[in-house]
Amino acid sequence: MIPVKGFAASSPTSPLGPYDFERRDLREHDVLVDILFSGVCHSDIHQARDEWGGSIYPMVPGHEIVGHVVKTGSQVKKFKVGDTAGVGVMIDSCRACKPCSNKMEQYCVEGMTGTYNGYERDKVTIAQGGYSTLIVCDERYVYHISDKLDPAGAAPLLCAGITTYSPLKFAGVKPGDKVAIVGLGGLGHMGLKFAVAMGAEVTLFSTSPSKEKDAKKLGAHHFVLNTDEKAMKKHESYFDVVLNTLSAPHHYETYLELLNLNGKMLVVGLPKEHPDVNPMALIYNRRSITGSMIGGTAETQEMLDYCAENNIVADVEVIPIQHINEAYERILKSDVKYRFVIDMASLK
Ligand code: NAP
Ligand code: ZN
Ligand code: ZN
Repeated sequence: MIPVKGFAASSPTSPLGPYDFERRDLREHDVLVDILFSGVCHSDIHQARDEWGGSIYPMVPGHEIVGHVVKTGSQVKKFKVGDTAGVGVMIDSCRACKPCSNKMEQYCVEGMTGTYNGYERDKVTIAQGGYSTLIVCDERYVYHISDKLDPAGAAPLLCAGITTYSPLKFAGVKPGDKVAIVGLGGLGHMGLKFAVAMGAEVTLFSTSPSKEKDAKKLGAHHFVLNTDEKAMKKHESYFDVVLNTLSAPHHYETYLELLNLNGKMLVVGLPKEHPDVNPMALIYNRRSITGSMIGGTAETQEMLDYCAENNIVADVEVIPIQHINEAYERILKSDVKYRFVIDMASLK
């Protein structure tokens, strides 16, 4: 077994603290990644605090991982020692069902194996995430990170990046489309960058007036305060696509009403409470709501390559792991520009 240092939550109410554990010795297709940076996703907070139910403790969160390959199993084909590599939200799946065969393993019929807060496929070993020094993962679920990309800025691509790239691609966003991004957090700022790169006319909807300047700097063409009723009314039936990244309870109708004929609301945010939806808001303009979960292995590599070609990384605040509890509190206050990334050297 391989000794690893990490930071874990031991209950829904306890702060995260140091936690040593072990990872398996390498199997034939495994790589060992020495973690350089690990992004902090709002899903880490939802799960550490058991907001979705069924959390497993001790829990080492973290599913936005970038590091160097330091060892490879005997049959590994994709990687060699020294490569920069990424691990995201998923570390395994059944590999046999239709979605898995189509490299859309996030929709595996047996359920994908998450990077943490679940059991590995042996149903015994608790999967532990990226707030740690090392990770072992089958090469199928490990990605190449171009050396053109800053490794700290690249870490959030593994969740915030793919979670916003995938639905925008699925919705077929093209030059000239009118796209609304709701929420300027980790996912929102990546969605904004992708929608702009895809050539859309992008409007950022935020509860934080202070974010207008940043939204424009990040490429937004327009900014709307979603508490400004007059401005919201003005944008009714205007957008082709709404990307909803909100982490807190809210009314879906507020944003559905922004959609024009056949408009789609792409839901990626996962608040604890479930919203009511008035069917009237759906039948008007024949609107639809589409959910989307991260992205599969093929699309995740495609997104990383797209980012390398288009010079896209997350805007990050790099922190030592000892500041993680304070970082969680700041995320809950929407006070982060726009993703915390842990420098794992602080744990080595
Ligand atoms: P985040 O960085 O905290 O951003 C969420 C944003 O929501 C905030 O920046 C804020 O934007 C807005 N917001 C927060 N509280 C609000 C409130 N009370 N009312 C209205 N707006 C509020 O979170 P994230 O990491 O981007 O994650 C966003 C959500 O996506 C989370 O629920 C997460 O679990 C989920 N997620 C889903 C997937 C998936 O596969 N579908 C993957 C990753 C994450 P403004 O300040 O601009 O208003
Ligand atoms: Zn995430
Ligand atoms: Zn499967």
